[in-house]
Amino acid sequence: SCVAVPTAAIAAQHEYRMRIYQRTMEDMASTDALTGLLNRKFFKQFACEELARMSRTEMTSAVALFDIDYFKAVNDQHGHAAGDRVLREIAAVAYSELRGPFDRLGRWGGEEFTIVFADKTAGEAKIICEALRESIAQHDFSAMGEGLSVTASFGLSDSTNVGDYDRLLSRADQALYKAKNSGRNCTEII
Ligand code: GH3
Ligand code: MG
Ligand code: MG
Repeated sequence: SCVAVPTAAIAAQHEYRMRIYQRTMEDMASTDALTGLLNRKFFKQFACEELARMSRTEMTSAVALFDIDYFKAVNDQHGHAAGDRVLREIAAVAYSELRGPFDRLGRWGGEEFTIVFADKTAGEAKIICEALRESIAQHDFSAMGEGLSVTASFGLSDSTNVGDYDRLLSRADQALYKAKNSGRNCTEII
């Protein structure tokens, strides 16, 4: 006897598997493996699209760069694995503080993170950064290490007069540097 092979069904299943595979590959290319946030390259892509939209609409968006304070000491005192868990936890805290799809979060590298605040001036974004900074400072990291507490410093700039991505990030970096020099655990704007 002969069994009819359901070719169409098999083809559909194959295509479905290929689509999932493709999605997985795309996600891997755009996300940072440790935190699941946008990696630097795809953060840049998103931010540049946002800046192009700003120049079309004459609106303002802000970019923040934040860096964990004395993170080397976290690694030294609690181990690199604990440090990794702190980075993941910080990413989760930051993700929950932001406005869903409007604000995009990226991992710049190491213990540095980036945020695009859509349709916000640096002054408006500062309110959100300060809330996030407080959340991190108050967060219970004791599961990652005994007596472990963490703070972060924030640097902000916005697209007013600075339409160029690299210059905007450079200004946010200068603001972060200022925050570090003002004693850390604070937010500065340049
Ligand atoms: P500051 O307050 O000035 O920012 O001091 P800091 O100690 O945070 O800065 P520094 O740049 O001296 O050290 C950053 C540390 O972050 C050193 C590096 O080992 C650690 N680090 C970078 N990436 C990772 C990572 O993926 N996992 C872990 N566990 N540590 C990392
Ligand atoms: Mg750093
Ligand atoms: Mg640091």
